Amino acid sequence: MQIDDELKEVYTLARRAFECQAELGYEEIYLSDDLQLNNDEAMPGTKTASQEIEENNKKNKKNKKIITPPTVPMERSPMGSTVPEVAKVKKFRSLTKHNEAICECTACPLGATRTKFVYGVGNPKAKIMFVGEAPGKDEDEKGEPFVGRAGRLLDDIIKAMGLERSEIYIANILKCRPPQNRDPQPEEMQLCMPYLKEQIRLIKPQFLCALGRIAAHGLLDTTTPLGQLRGRWHSFENIPLLVTYHPAALLRFQKYKRPTWEDMQFLMAEYARINKDQ
Ligand code: SF4
Repeated sequence: MQIDDELKEVYTLARRAFECQAELGYEEIYLSDDLQLNNDEAMPGTKTASQEIEENNKKNKKNKKIITPPTVPMERSPMGSTVPEVAKVKKFRSLTKHNEAICECTACPLGATRTKFVYGVGNPKAKIMFVGEAPGKDEDEKGEPFVGRAGRLLDDIIKAMGLERSEIYIANILKCRPPQNRDPQPEEMQLCMPYLKEQIRLIKPQFLCALGRIAAHGLLDTTTPLGQLRGRWHSFENIPLLVTYHPAALLRFQKYKRPTWEDMQFLMAEYARINKDQ
């Protein structure tokens, strides 16, 4: 099949690039023996993102189950705190303007306990956008996502993908830290989601990558276990979305490194295919 052959060729090229990166020393991610993958192992699937999304949409239509991202009426906060007037405004001209408009948000109780509002960071024209769940202690102190140990590991992953952090964009579902790093509550995620949606609309990334269960569930409005969401393309507002483990999980469980790297290879093969003529 011609498409399969082309995809294999692109994938082989991408893999060679990764091997070159390995030689340059990004060893934490994939120089260990258990991360030396062959082509068959490394490919969670062989369909392109658009093919897979189209198939999923057909299946959803057939089952009369349409996956839609959560929407929130922003006029009143169900949690009783202040919703900034600006949150009702649907569209902004830039990320900076958007950040300025929402950075005082106290729509949910986390607005009262945060140290710093954590909007997001990176290239406003990024082709790949990573989405985590919420700021942790370091992020809350610095006002920037993924700056602690998990952030440094994400940096290594991005480098191993052949990219720089300045080329991608990173944000979280929640802009404020939940106390003691507890899981975000559904109401908090629902209230904060319009901010992330507006960031995605402004950036218009080619690909979204959800880091961890909470981010995946928030973006896909599902409770399907993370393991079942990996290895295939999803869609968020018509943008191909891939799910993988959160870097913090990799710090705790070495066994997640290999599947995470497989996910990144899967993403980069499609990225290389889409951008091969640019
Ligand atoms: S977490 Fe989101 S909704 Fe809650 S106060 Fe912070 S910005 Fe507002």
